[in-house]
Amino acid sequence: VRSYSVLGYDHLRINGVEDVIAVASGKGGVGKSTTAVNLAVALANKCQLKVGLLDADVYGPSVPTMMRINQKPEVTRDLKMIPIENYGVKCMSMGFLVDKDAPIVWRGPMVMSALQKMSREVDWGSLDILVVDMPPGTGDAQLTMSQKLQLSGALIVSTPQDVALIDARRGVRMFSKVQVPILGLVENMSCFKCPHCGEPSFIFGMGGARNTAAEMGLQLLGEIPIEVDIRKGCDEGIPIVVSAPDSVISKAYHDVAQNV
Ligand code: ADP
Repeated sequence: VRSYSVLGYDHLRINGVEDVIAVASGKGGVGKSTTAVNLAVALANKCQLKVGLLDADVYGPSVPTMMRINQKPEVTRDLKMIPIENYGVKCMSMGFLVDKDAPIVWRGPMVMSALQKMSREVDWGSLDILVVDMPPGTGDAQLTMSQKLQLSGALIVSTPQDVALIDARRGVRMFSKVQVPILGLVENMSCFKCPHCGEPSFIFGMGGARNTAAEMGLQLLGEIPIEVDIRKGCDEGIPIVVSAPDSVISKAYHDVAQNV
């Protein structure tokens, strides 16, 4: 990860956090949160880094479920929230602070101030890397967030489908606008292997992210198959890199972590 210090923004970094990287997507439902969670755990357990995970997807926080956390953070004497740790990753999410079924109906400025609190008014301790699960899309909110979080880099998650890739390209351009280096693309749901006959099916098309990465001069950080165990891991709150660390899929996530 290229350090932001070269750009002279050191004073604006989150206290104690070496690098902040965003996991982003042009559109929702492509597996951004799934990737962020498995990547964070892989960085902590496989790469032995001190890792935090900030769920900035304030309208649809997934980290509490995916990381199996259901308590509320405690607060230090100087009123900083203490992140909640599971699987070796210190987590913070809007989902810890609001009722599970309550609709979040804030407008932009409130979201920004909540995000400011969730990133800077948190006792992260010292972290090598803070992984940020961004809200989907490439609008103003994401642009402002990218600037405020002082990102060291961003990785973009997409399925191989054209509609997703078009939006992923938008994401790449958005980060370039604010001089955030793109670490690469992750193709999620790249292939489905039939559990009965083993034949691969390319449900969302084949090689889409690989081609887009080549076209845009970006690195393809990994290709993650569509697989029932990944979905189960999300729903049960035990990421696949934890439940099956030696599986082929976990290896794919480990490769993404190592490439980052
Ligand atoms: P996003 O953050 O982009 O909205 P999520 O990570 O929440 O997407 O994923 C959407 C849904 O798809 C979740 O229910 C998740 O469990 C499932 N999912 C994501 N990636 C995979 C995959 N590779 N294989 C199977 N299910 C997946």
